[in-house]
Amino acid sequence: MSTPTYPNYSATRPLHATSHRLNTTIPSASAVAYPVTHDKIVSPVNTRNFIDNEAVESQASEWIDLHDPATNNLITRVPHSTQAELKAAVDSAAKAFPGWKSTSLLTRQQIMFKFVALIRENWDRLAASITLEQGKTFADAKGDVLRGLQVAETACGITTQMTGEVLEVAKDMETRSYREPLGVVAAICPFNFPAMIPLWCLPIAAVTGNCMVMKPSERDPGAAMIIAELAREAGFPDGVFNIVHGAHDAVNFILDEPRIKAISFVGSDKAGNYIYSRASANGKRVQANLGAKNHAAVLPDANKNATINAIIGAAFGAAGQRCMALSTLVLVGEAKSWLPEIVEKAKHLVVNAGFEEGADLGPVISPQSKERIESLIQSGVDEGATLFLDGRGYKPEKYPNGNFVGPTILADVTTSMKCYTEEIFGPVLVCLNVDTLEDAIDLINSNKYGNGVAVFTNSGATATRFQRDIEAGQVGINTPIPVPLPMFSFTGNKGSIAGGSGHYFYGKAGLNFFTQLKTVTALWRSEDAVATRATTVMPTHS
Ligand code: NAD
Repeated sequence: MSTPTYPNYSATRPLHATSHRLNTTIPSASAVAYPVTHDKIVSPVNTRNFIDNEAVESQASEWIDLHDPATNNLITRVPHSTQAELKAAVDSAAKAFPGWKSTSLLTRQQIMFKFVALIRENWDRLAASITLEQGKTFADAKGDVLRGLQVAETACGITTQMTGEVLEVAKDMETRSYREPLGVVAAICPFNFPAMIPLWCLPIAAVTGNCMVMKPSERDPGAAMIIAELAREAGFPDGVFNIVHGAHDAVNFILDEPRIKAISFVGSDKAGNYIYSRASANGKRVQANLGAKNHAAVLPDANKNATINAIIGAAFGAAGQRCMALSTLVLVGEAKSWLPEIVEKAKHLVVNAGFEEGADLGPVISPQSKERIESLIQSGVDEGATLFLDGRGYKPEKYPNGNFVGPTILADVTTSMKCYTEEIFGPVLVCLNVDTLEDAIDLINSNKYGNGVAVFTNSGATATRFQRDIEAGQVGINTPIPVPLPMFSFTGNKGSIAGGSGHYFYGKAGLNFFTQLKTVTALWRSEDAVATRATTVMPTHS
């Protein structure tokens, strides 16, 4: 097989022998041949369903055009999978479940080792798919893959995580607990982490013996399709991992399909609350992570340079489209005098298409999203905030048609303004002023969300007080974006998780989510042991 001739490929080696079986948005991509520019794709190929370990062309009558956010060129068309295709995916998973459940844990672990190795091998290819479809810079897209990969790596330790408990509860009687898989489970994913969030779900679900139907975001399903190909190559049996596409109808199917026992959702409040209620009412186990407004309290005693650098990276990285983006600054006392320096640093960030060398942030996902972000900036101005830095209307020279918004800073914001009450999900930092640490804690705790928070200070006592009194689920001390690595769980709180569900992604909590405890109490009387020596004396005790 010869090397492809697509102009936007990094084709350094012959193609993978099996890659033609799959559409991963781009035809014939492999670990070493994938797009590395935003050049127009001459003949975009449709995204396929992935059912029974095969990438199958959808028979859909309705399709979603997917555009490169840097150019708005068409990349692929994503199907609204038909009802028959949605059912076929669940049929496949349900058929695979008994065999997968009874496959030994050590065999599943071996497959997971291979899966991890393949993700590493295809790391750049996955990142390239993310940059092309989602828009984030290539370096940042590599981080997206890494954070998912780490969940898969941790899942390889399943043999020590799955051990149950045992206790002799009476003479010759033991109670033993086992963790059993749930059956067919589903994942519904957002656009902003096309590799990480599918990998928050699949590895733990699969290694514990569940079979999964995933609906990636209809806005960037390419990374999930590559993950499916890698799962097959690693040895996932047919039906253990399936992918369907679409929007509301596909989601409603998943919510109502009785064979699906549990749903993992990450995304916006509106979709998440709806999904949580309908799926819970249908008796399913649901973990649902929602929106956020992550605050940082900045104390004037903090290390100024390190703090400003941390804020800039966390507010504007990924164009602010991270659920843990640091979007809200609470400047305590004299820390407000740091604003001009924050603005100066933000001005120097390079806004460009994700494959361009030196880009610090790329475009936002869609023209609609850009419009919404720009209107929220305007609402801040209209309500009396001070626009210190305005990124509206920014166009990189080479990419005049992309969905770009430059770093934007609104100061003197108050808690009643719309730019404060709504999650903006763009490269916009809103800044509020307070006098004391207590004021900062009160302000942050009054916000409906509770995903992440950070405090910047050189005082251990201040940090300890903050950490104790703050209600957000993930606290950073002199570090922004405190997303825990997968030996812990992602512990959002308050309005950032649906229904106060108490379920958390990955870590021990993730293992609990994807397994059902079973206890077995067994009585094996020692008197009943066979082939024992005969006794000739009368028993004198019980
Ligand atoms: P979204 O809610 O629009 O989409 C998420 C998924 O839900 C998609 O698969 C989509 O097809 C589906 N969906 C959307 N609207 C629906 C509806 N009305 N009914 C049924 N299904 C629907 O979210 P998004 O824009 O893709 O992602 C951004 C959001 O996700 C932000 O709010 C962000 O904070 C949040 N997010 C949260 C976390 C977290 O861990 N808390 C992580 C990442 C993203």
